[in-house]
Amino acid sequence: MKIVLENLTKIFPSRNKKSSDEVVAVNNFNFEIPDGKLIGLLGPSGCGKSTTLYMISGLQKPTGGKIYFGDDDVTEVSTEKRGIGLVFQNYALYPHLTVRQNILFPLQNLRGADKMSKDDMLKRAYEVAKLVQIEELMDRKPSELSGGQQQRVAIARALVKMPRVLLLDEPLSNLDARLRLQTREEIRRIQKETKITTVFVTHDQEEAMSISDLIVVMKLGVLQQIGAPQDVYDEPANLFVAKFLGTPPINVFDGEVKGGKLYIGDDAVLDVKNVPDMPVTVGIRPEGFVLDENGPFKCRLSNVEVMGRDVSIVSTHPASLNPIIRSIINADHKVEPKNDEVAYTLKPHKVFLFDKETENRIRF
Ligand code: ADP
Ligand code: MG
Repeated sequence: MKIVLENLTKIFPSRNKKSSDEVVAVNNFNFEIPDGKLIGLLGPSGCGKSTTLYMISGLQKPTGGKIYFGDDDVTEVSTEKRGIGLVFQNYALYPHLTVRQNILFPLQNLRGADKMSKDDMLKRAYEVAKLVQIEELMDRKPSELSGGQQQRVAIARALVKMPRVLLLDEPLSNLDARLRLQTREEIRRIQKETKITTVFVTHDQEEAMSISDLIVVMKLGVLQQIGAPQDVYDEPANLFVAKFLGTPPINVFDGEVKGGKLYIGDDAVLDVKNVPDMPVTVGIRPEGFVLDENGPFKCRLSNVEVMGRDVSIVSTHPASLNPIIRSIINADHKVEPKNDEVAYTLKPHKVFLFDKETENRIRF
């Protein structure tokens, strides 16, 4: 089922009655979450991800705007009646109940026409337990499970009522690195198998990129860009998005366009024919550098790190806005610096220009 957010806004009043510094946690969101897709809400802490998710769930009431599930306006519908499954960062399982009882719990609370027989409930509980691969653990208590297993139980519990929408708020944050990777692949598999429209909140760009059909990048309650992960990476709308996506991060420089050429310091590094003369901020992805002893972009070499398949070259440049520049080169290339200098040509599609004032992308 698709979800539509229309002019969705959440303003928290200031805690201090005398001051007027209210927080606009979510500022006029308009976007559609397509049916059966997994979308990642991505942005730094405090940008309004959880608030957006809680409004979709009904746990928080919007200050303005509407939420549609399919064609139904659910803005005023209670959480229980929205048909959602929720998973939080801390698994929030009942410690005194077994895994089986934890999963059964939402079904036991069903009333009226939705009420299920005991056999049907058990059958359903085992189906979801199987889906998240914990059917062997049904008799254990949460304290007897690893973090990853607990999170699977929480996911099973969220799925057992067959929700129309699955909402996950930083579900992997409490897991160690290896389990995080494994569990995120699990979530992807479960989502693909069940085809439940899913909203996945994370501050981790790599996590969002790897798991999502679409990512929604947010900053301070304002939507920055929405698109397929690779498209957003390849075509960032502004400097914030360019800097937020990618490991190692994009390299950023002060630059200037003069006579159709992009200058970084004194080096004319690229032709940018359609851009008028103006100062710009330049972003260059680490994979955008090509070693070339006659290349126009000359940097001071600091260090070469061989990482198996790739070589990471650390260098500096006076116009760099970061302490170091990191470029990633195929390990087949030998790095032969001259007088501690390393020269590059640039791949044009890996170079982005941004307006110095608005930080919006300037296309060339
Ligand atoms: P995220 O999940 O992206 O870290 P949140 O949605 O939790 O961000 O918060 C967005 C902004 O709203 C933050 O500035 C936060 O301090 C503020 N906020 C969240 N919940 C409340 C609340 N109940 N009362 C006041 N301010 C809140
Ligand atoms: Mg949050």
